[in-house]
Amino acid sequence: MGEGRVVVVTGAARGIGRASAVAFARAGYRVAGADIAALASAAMDYEPATPEDLAETGRLVEEAGGEWLAVVVDQRDTAAIREAFARVVERFGGVDVVFANAGIQGFAPLLEMTDELWHDQIDINLTGTANVLRVAAPLLVERGGGRIIITSSTQGQHGTLDGSGYSASKWGLIGLMKSAALELGRYGITVNAVIPGLIDTKLTRHEDRYAQIIRSGGNEPTGDVERDERTAAEAQRRKLPLGVPWVEPEDVAPLVVFLASEEARMVSGTSFAATGGDSANVTA
Ligand code: NAP
Repeated sequence: MGEGRVVVVTGAARGIGRASAVAFARAGYRVAGADIAALASAAMDYEPATPEDLAETGRLVEEAGGEWLAVVVDQRDTAAIREAFARVVERFGGVDVVFANAGIQGFAPLLEMTDELWHDQIDINLTGTANVLRVAAPLLVERGGGRIIITSSTQGQHGTLDGSGYSASKWGLIGLMKSAALELGRYGITVNAVIPGLIDTKLTRHEDRYAQIIRSGGNEPTGDVERDERTAAEAQRRKLPLGVPWVEPEDVAPLVVFLASEEARMVSGTSFAATGGDSANVTA
């Protein structure tokens, strides 16, 4: 299906990026995986990805039969992104598909939020993704067409208690995606978003996220991580029509691979979701 086409996946060190990189490899793509692979923001309360995580994605991509190139890059730095894409072009001869997926998430009520928490989420999730698109789009134009897929969120489809910075960044990405789809269609480039629900990754499996889920249900977390995890899981199970607490990254990856495919050539400016049924709670 990929027939040697070249995909760049950002946030490839783990989670949704890793699962998608492996799915692309299985589909016959050559894969460049980009990640900061270090602490992206001191405002985050969860473990950062490491260079070893990125290397592990590479191992899995190669095991799946794909060629692999790792690039360590902070997507806030446009010059560094330009350099990273130059390395991809040098290695693989061009770029056909970009999965702009890297992101961070933190929680704080507006009344208590630090400047750092707001800016890091907007700078990485929204501006960083725009940086990737602005560097990649001319390369796709040069190639005669291509695919751009970005990762938004259900939190880019509704408000989020104690998550205004993240929500704003993910709503902003929908505006970016739709605008880019309008502008780039004439070059044979489609632009779409994937909407992951609550996915079982490091970004969600920590006390702050459990506490936010519990508060969203009108209750207070106990601060006991294991107990709050069980309460959050139960709340999710009740909320999701498909009855799971978390959705797996591997459940998102097929949407990404489809949106990158030749078969999706007439799909642009829209969103595809894998949410365990939570999409039934939003209008889009
Ligand atoms: P993850 O496991 O934390 O993966 C995200 C990756 O992006 C990490 O390796 C992270 O590196 C990297 N990254 C962060 N800042 C970066 C930067 N400035 N430049 C380059 N790479 C950077 O989380 P995930 O759940 O797979 O998330 C992937 C995407 O899905 C994110 O955009 C997230 O917002 C979105 N999403 C996730 C969920 C969910 O429930 N998990 C739901 C909806 C949307 P460090 O860890 O080293 O910072």
